[in-house]
Amino acid sequence: MLSQRLTSREYTENLLDIALATARLSPADRGLCHELVCGVVRWQATLDRLIARKTDPARELRPALRNFLRLGLYQIFWLDRIPPHAAVHETVEQTKRAGYHSQAGLINAVLRSYLRETDEIKKILADMKVSQPALGWSHPEWLVDKWLARFGDEKTRRLLEWDNTPPKTFARVNTLKTTAGKLVERWREENVDYDFTTRDWTGENLAFELKAHPPLNSLGSLRDGWFYLQDPSTLLAPSLLGAQPGETVWDMCAAPGGKTTFIAQQMNNEGKIVASDLDPNRLRLVKDNCARLGVTSAEAVVPSAITPRPSTAFDRILIDAPCSNTGVMRRRVDLRWRIQAAEIERLRATQLGLLHEAAPRLKPGGILVYSTCSLEPEENSEVVKQFLAGHASFTLETERQLLPFADAVDGAYVARLKHST
Ligand code: SAM
Repeated sequence: MLSQRLTSREYTENLLDIALATARLSPADRGLCHELVCGVVRWQATLDRLIARKTDPARELRPALRNFLRLGLYQIFWLDRIPPHAAVHETVEQTKRAGYHSQAGLINAVLRSYLRETDEIKKILADMKVSQPALGWSHPEWLVDKWLARFGDEKTRRLLEWDNTPPKTFARVNTLKTTAGKLVERWREENVDYDFTTRDWTGENLAFELKAHPPLNSLGSLRDGWFYLQDPSTLLAPSLLGAQPGETVWDMCAAPGGKTTFIAQQMNNEGKIVASDLDPNRLRLVKDNCARLGVTSAEAVVPSAITPRPSTAFDRILIDAPCSNTGVMRRRVDLRWRIQAAEIERLRATQLGLLHEAAPRLKPGGILVYSTCSLEPEENSEVVKQFLAGHASFTLETERQLLPFADAVDGAYVARLKHST
């Protein structure tokens, strides 16, 4: 298991990666397992509404039984590739295998009654997306209300649909170790099906969409550090940072190292990158990824090791701040059930604190880039505005918000500020 994939143990995707790493499953079953787990987590609110229609609210359903019902209903109403009767049969058998013999009848009764109403329920589900979008698209209501007020019906619907669609896999070639030409040659040998992909901030021959591939951890090209898995949106902040060979750069929130290693590539490994992160475990991932990608110009250090001496003044600083992650909900399937409205206010204080910490460490004329993968103005333009109001020596040069429904990439916000004195 490569450290790039193992950033946090508790997220669904990471737990799934860990479980699948040792599971003896065919590639098809592996794909199905992934789809079932991620699908059930994504559509949990809508699935639970269906469960509530057929179960006694006075009797609490055990979590395992609820999960069996979710699994069965997901297969009936969201998956085409499993015949519904087979899905019901298998779910009931699975309930028994898990030791719930006496409750298998309940699971069977609920699922079979839904089998009889499939067409009617499909219509109800489609109507729900319009009349109750939070429930119909299985998102928290406060967040959908927030997006509706800001983006309107149509764009919010496209955003909700984006969040519920399995994400594509993208890679960035590591030119410190290879070239785009050599990488695609190796991919052909490894049975990786790819497409070149470009955005206005990436240029040519840098980013790829991986359309089909063997398990990524089995690829020598990944182990050898010939590429790094990252969405094209994550290349915008380093591009606006514009680090040059020989410069000194501070990447303040560096883990797991996607942007650090790209900045090193832009600098041709010449100069110095100080890569820090509050979380020492995640900082280890920066070290691992730098080693794998042949980055020798970056040093991974705990933030307390960076003192405000003049010798540590930086040409450029990147703050890829911790945020609510609302721009990457399609990749982090359980995020929508963790995120709280109050959390955004708390994050704002951290984000502003990071900007205040960075400001005195920048050389005169230096560049400060602030980025998040949030869609929320409270964490983006409003934070930058508040910082600028107290720092007259900084000016905003560029500001950009990437939106999934407009840019067809994960959501991201990037602001480039210049220190004028
Ligand atoms: N730049 C990384 C990349 O491209 O791979 C992603 C960074 S992630 C969005 C935010 C990181 O900020 C997390 O790794 C988290 O541990 C770190 N973090 C949170 N609070 C911090 C703080 N006060 N100082 C430094 N790092 C912090």
